[in-house]
Amino acid sequence: MNVIGKVTVLPQLPAEIARLSELAYNLYWSWTPRAQALYRDLSPELWERFQHNPVRLLLEADQDRLNAAAQDPAYLGRYAQVMADFDAYMGKKDTWAARHAPQMKPVAYFSMEYAFHESLPIYSGGLGVLAGDHCKSASDLGLPFTAVGMLFSQGYFRQLFDKDGWQNEAYDELDLTTLPIQPAQSAAGEDIRVSVRIAGREVAVKVWTLQVGRVRVLLLDSNVPDNSEDDRKLTARLYGGNQELRVQQYVLLGVAGIRALRALDVPASVYHMNEGHAALMALERMREYVAAGQDFRTAAELAASSTLFTTHTPVAAGNDAFTYELMDKYIGEWPGLLHAGRDELYALARHDQQWDGHTVPAFSMTVFALSMSRAANGVSELHGEVSRGMWNFLYPGAEENEVPIGHVTNGAHNLTFTSQRMRDLLSTVLPEDWTERLEDETMWQAVEQLTEEQLSNVQREMKREMITFVRGRVREQLLRNGASAADVAATDNLLDEGTLTIGFARRFATYKRATLLLRDKPRLAAIVNNPERPVQFVFAGKAHPADNPGKAFIQEIYRTSQEPEFRGKIVILENYDMNVARHLVQGVDIWLNNPRRPLEASGTSGMKASFNGSPNFSVLDGWWREGYDGTNGWPIGEEREYADLNVQDDADAFDLYQRLEHEIAPRYYGHAQGNASWAHTVRDAIETVSPRFSMQRQVLDYVQQYYLPLGQRGTQLADHGGARARDLAAWKAWVRQQWPHTSISAQANLPATARPGEQVTVSAQVNPAGIRPEELRVEAVLKRGDEVQRYPLAPGEGGQYSAEIPLDDSGLYSVGVRMLPLIDGLSNDLEAGLIKWA
Ligand SMILES: *Cc1c(COP(=O)(O)O)cnc(C)c1O
Repeated sequence: MNVIGKVTVLPQLPAEIARLSELAYNLYWSWTPRAQALYRDLSPELWERFQHNPVRLLLEADQDRLNAAAQDPAYLGRYAQVMADFDAYMGKKDTWAARHAPQMKPVAYFSMEYAFHESLPIYSGGLGVLAGDHCKSASDLGLPFTAVGMLFSQGYFRQLFDKDGWQNEAYDELDLTTLPIQPAQSAAGEDIRVSVRIAGREVAVKVWTLQVGRVRVLLLDSNVPDNSEDDRKLTARLYGGNQELRVQQYVLLGVAGIRALRALDVPASVYHMNEGHAALMALERMREYVAAGQDFRTAAELAASSTLFTTHTPVAAGNDAFTYELMDKYIGEWPGLLHAGRDELYALARHDQQWDGHTVPAFSMTVFALSMSRAANGVSELHGEVSRGMWNFLYPGAEENEVPIGHVTNGAHNLTFTSQRMRDLLSTVLPEDWTERLEDETMWQAVEQLTEEQLSNVQREMKREMITFVRGRVREQLLRNGASAADVAATDNLLDEGTLTIGFARRFATYKRATLLLRDKPRLAAIVNNPERPVQFVFAGKAHPADNPGKAFIQEIYRTSQEPEFRGKIVILENYDMNVARHLVQGVDIWLNNPRRPLEASGTSGMKASFNGSPNFSVLDGWWREGYDGTNGWPIGEEREYADLNVQDDADAFDLYQRLEHEIAPRYYGHAQGNASWAHTVRDAIETVSPRFSMQRQVLDYVQQYYLPLGQRGTQLADHGGARARDLAAWKAWVRQQWPHTSISAQANLPATARPGEQVTVSAQVNPAGIRPEELRVEAVLKRGDEVQRYPLAPGEGGQYSAEIPLDDSGLYSVGVRMLPLIDGLSNDLEAGLIKWA
């Protein structure tokens, strides 16, 4: 037909269920399956077609169906219950924050990606899920908390496999009017715009609000008519494009993000940079102080004093670093705005790189974030350690374990990933308020009361749903690729309900070694086809569009899944997202993860599986190194690193097969009771992983270790017009200037051998130059293995220092003497960045 115009007729929500619209705009529904069911039941078909997006569903639902629901007593009963729960959640006065941290200062959290739900595809993987979950738990706890991110109008990408299992990417333009977001408005009801200069252009940014329970998320969007075509695309794709695009996105996130908070009068006292992408927020925060009359150094102290940086990347190459010339192009105006020299500003980010055989100074986002924060952390104990090693060079003279990077081990948002069936089962033994005490380890002991039958009934149902889901997805894929009718029909035989099912799903970054399982295919074929104890596998995951080795891994698994001995027993699903993740973590029997240690900073998908009773089977890396307790799952390989990666892969693959054949499958198929039973492992997995790796535990750790102290610190430095910050900046400048003129020499009176408890005399001769003696710490450092002990030397006459130092234990001690400038109020002893060894 010849279309001359279009009109959308919007359905009218009947008064009886009018609040479905309000609820659709609060992502509370994303962790509340009963709320989702209210929308799904209005049209299961639209619900699937629109990625479970309630806003879209309400726009397109049949008026008749809405009217019928409004007259259906059963539906209205469920509606009333969901709304009552929602109101109780939103209106709760005695939240954790109200009871335990009423003085807590408001936090602004910045992240490049957020995974809240599959209908809002502005994430790529674990980093996004972590950020999304962090917001959800901040809401659960009632924290004063606002998040800032980007509204990628084409998201990351939609993954499609071709006939041969090669990944293709599709980019769909989101229709913003159908998302659960609204334009952020000022108190006067006007849409908020901010702008930021990038490479001499004024880029306008629209700000959207996403409501996640009690927490507000601000999303930045450059796709506005005032901007040039290129600038409109700045927020089109996540991690797309080249370095130039990346830097511009970092400027947008950091600078426009802070401006959006200000434009909306959002209170913020503590700033959290989630990964180096967010580091440039410090530029704008410094600019604000400089504009208010502070000098550059004081402004830097003020901005850093209230900032926390979380690093996630344990490989040097994964940390963004840009040439100075590139930075000049995009932040060239900033030294002027900050009343700083270009090299003075860039020095805060400098990380020399080897490029084309030359040593080139580069602007590292991680280094800048470390300089512009006064607290930093990795995301698991081992990752904290690895990070201290990686960034030790920034603290010359410091021992590795003194590097001021701590750790908070990641968690996952229990309710987002736990099936309604499992929640219902847990509710039979846990206290009524269990969803508010998720981190309470004692509470979770009640899981031991669940019987084998109760658990297996629930797990069977979840597995059935997962298998139905997998078959449907594979069928769609085959139909699209023009597969034969026979192949399409064969999807009904994919995966078997009675077979031990192992899930592996995550980004296909090569260090995650998705194909490790295929290292010995004859052995794998024997495992999969074992007549008494068969095993089957479900894979899913996206490779970055530019990562051909990652795509080759996908293809290798896909091709393997087509080989006769693996058909129906190894399956790889397209388009891994939150939806696929939920189905898999809920429906498989075991969760597999085999990254190349120590490259998995934390990992979180295994936590989600264990919330649902699927034990973890993983390399002792990231969180599992802390989570594995001998009975709640299985390790792969040893707790060590290898010089030869091939040897490491062989050793890990061998151990993987060995455990699968001799421990895991026999246990799964066995009829043993008590400690040797499958149910015992399942209960242990739920009981130990749910509290310790809950996002609630993680966020509480952030509050106690970082948010509360930084809130105080920021206030102290900012009070009285920033007097403390100014003193601190001046003091640092003074000690830096004096430092070359200081000197230290030392002697230790050491016997050839000694007995535990014996004392030795250590002394030093110091020239402090212009540094006041009370601002200088002279100390002996004793190292035994990895252990470092520090003993202050007492000042005597004429620059002499000494102390009697006990050798507590047996072993080989190395003794050294050093000095460092210290005054009260530093965030850590290395803050001045000066250490001189004798
Ligand atoms: C949990 C999750 C991840 C992170 O998985 P890891 O095991 O940490 O790699 C990635 N993507 C999605 C969709 C997830 O839900």
